Amino acid sequence: MAELINTFSWSVSASRDFDECRRKRYLARYAMWNGWKDQATDIQRAAYRLSKMENRFILQGNAVEMAVIWAIRQQQEGKAVTMDQAYAVAARPFLNQCWKESSKKMWKSNPKKFCCLQEHYYPEHNTQPESEMTARMIDEIKQCLSNFIQEGLPRFKGIEEAQEVKIATVDSGDPESFQFEGLKIYAIPDYVYKKDDQIHIHDWKSGNPRPFHNDQMALYSLWANVKHNAPVGNIHVHLEYLLSGTVQSAVLTKNEFQKISRLIRCSVAEMAEYLVDGDIRKNKPLPQEDWEMAADIYACKRCKFFELCKPELGNI
Ligand code: SF4
Repeated sequence: MAELINTFSWSVSASRDFDECRRKRYLARYAMWNGWKDQATDIQRAAYRLSKMENRFILQGNAVEMAVIWAIRQQQEGKAVTMDQAYAVAARPFLNQCWKESSKKMWKSNPKKFCCLQEHYYPEHNTQPESEMTARMIDEIKQCLSNFIQEGLPRFKGIEEAQEVKIATVDSGDPESFQFEGLKIYAIPDYVYKKDDQIHIHDWKSGNPRPFHNDQMALYSLWANVKHNAPVGNIHVHLEYLLSGTVQSAVLTKNEFQKISRLIRCSVAEMAEYLVDGDIRKNKPLPQEDWEMAADIYACKRCKFFELCKPELGNI
């Protein structure tokens, strides 16, 4: 098998990690590289394993997304669905499986295949009792699904699978990406379809609105423009907050396209300062100590790489 090359890439989440903590970007993109190999060093192996860690918010979002897609498929087959069915058939088995893998530490044999939850791995950083946490997750997932089935699902009536744009995910290998000014940019919208000459991009959120969601939607519009040749005025983005049952729909303007393009260029330029000769083509990182640690110590308590930084953080 050909050797994998660690090429420079950018995404909204990578940019957020970098802004929060330079060291996090180093651990997530460079220290972990080759950590899957038999001959990996202890640091490489640990960074790779920790990079795969998830948390209860990611798990909740994934469970909701699976159930939403299941409900859309049922509707496409002409079947009626209820919230209870969507939860029981699509969300609950997934949640139970992840919870079991994480609590039994099955990730020790294969961190890519089996789920590891931060809440299990760093129990000292999680003050909420497990029973309260799971009860809240289940309530919120059911609330999201209830809102989707009542308000969201009818809007997808008549959309056939053939109209959908396939989105590559982590499960299918390299996730969805596109080339922008010679850079690899990851953009993984939840659900996309074409209708007439318009393209519709939906992203389902199971939590509260956050400012970076708008950057994500702008990036998805750029993806549709570059990768699918969709004209700027024909790209509709729908940010669906399922917990509250609200939707923010928009068609981005040329100004907003320029704004997300500028954000990418600025962020990439800052990241390049941490590479040897500032060369993103070679993509060789400066030594670990040149990547500053988080200024906000509370960020460390939410961070999956805490174990690797602990010796430098002392007692926090
Ligand atoms: S534990 Fe803190 S310093 Fe280390 S990578 Fe995470 S946020 Fe950065």
